[in-house]
Amino acid sequence: MINTNKNSSTDKVYNIDKKCPGCGVEIQTLYEDKAGYIKEEVLKQRGDNFLCERCYRLKHYNEINKKDISIDFDKVFGEISKEKNLIVNVIDAFDLLGSTIKDINNMFPKSKVLVIANKYDLFMRSNRPTKLRRYLKEYLSFNNIDYCDVIVTSSLTNDSAFPIYNALCEHAKINNKKNLNVYFVGITNVGKSTLLNTLSSLTKNPLSLTTSNQVGTTQDITRYKLGDLNVGDTPGYYNKGQATYYLDKKSLNNVIPKKFIKPRVYQLYNNDTIFINGFGYFTYISESDDKLGVTIYVANTLMLYRTKNDPREYYQKHKDDLLLVPNKKEREKLGEMYEREIDVNAKEELVLSGVGFISFNKKAKIIINTLDNIDIEIRNAMI
Ligand code: GDP
Repeated sequence: MINTNKNSSTDKVYNIDKKCPGCGVEIQTLYEDKAGYIKEEVLKQRGDNFLCERCYRLKHYNEINKKDISIDFDKVFGEISKEKNLIVNVIDAFDLLGSTIKDINNMFPKSKVLVIANKYDLFMRSNRPTKLRRYLKEYLSFNNIDYCDVIVTSSLTNDSAFPIYNALCEHAKINNKKNLNVYFVGITNVGKSTLLNTLSSLTKNPLSLTTSNQVGTTQDITRYKLGDLNVGDTPGYYNKGQATYYLDKKSLNNVIPKKFIKPRVYQLYNNDTIFINGFGYFTYISESDDKLGVTIYVANTLMLYRTKNDPREYYQKHKDDLLLVPNKKEREKLGEMYEREIDVNAKEELVLSGVGFISFNKKAKIIINTLDNIDIEIRNAMI
């Protein structure tokens, strides 16, 4: 339904009772610089087959106006947190540190949390799903996250929808609630919209949520029916310890892995340094001639450089050419290089949030430098 403001000095349409199918925000034709804007003539032409201008530009040109991504999470999540729902927390199997919401149980105290670890295709050849699932359960428990189940999936594969749908129905059955409210929550870029589009392909009216690697694609809760279930997609949450939070679209395209990650293996000697583009570098320190085997898992599009030169000089010399992801503007937000000496063990991984991880074949001393705002973690090896 469209209401025209007849009393207005302009004859533009406002208060349109429609939501953008791409991001869930209410449509309006008055304010070009605000969320939900669409040109009145475009809306008239397109009937029900429309997207707000922002989603249209995002879909066709991968462009986003950073001004309109201020989302009131207290409002969006506040509503849901008062009710007993099922929260489906989508996380990124590649970036557990960056995509795990450690506070999820406090955010939704009345609801059960089902965790879906997406992007399994990135490890398909290195790790079996049952092994990954077992690992994830331990990782979540270690982080004090209370979950009712963990599902490993890849939203890029068509057969991902049924097992998830069945798990949601099973949960509704156990809780004796046919019309269960199910809310999908996740950090931006975990693949939540892609997953929901795949899921909704099971319905008669498939969704068309805007998917992109840009922060803030979904602006409000988008609701739809999936069989008897009431499904709600919430806006992508954020994590300021995740490198990707600070990146523009060109850099994001380099950092977010799209395909199976080819493990890159090195044998390091004392004082050998490896740069992970310009996000950080690590140096092996040893008093003997022993080699250290390291395997690095980052997007295939990220460059790794090995050097015996002084890494600080190397970084200063090359941060704007060889190491130019992140770029100068992004580096200003990511902070200065921060140095730590750490001990790692065999079967442990050193994680750079949003960038990737490194595994080691034996106990060793490492000096690691990373841009200050990137969280790091040492964990039991996932692979
Ligand atoms: P959202 O911000 O969580 O809604 O994430 P999107 O669905 O927009 O996806 C973010 C990026 O991850 C896009 O470039 C997707 O193509 C990519 N992506 C989504 N799901 C998968 C997946 O299962 N595997 C891989 N490799 N990439 C995915």
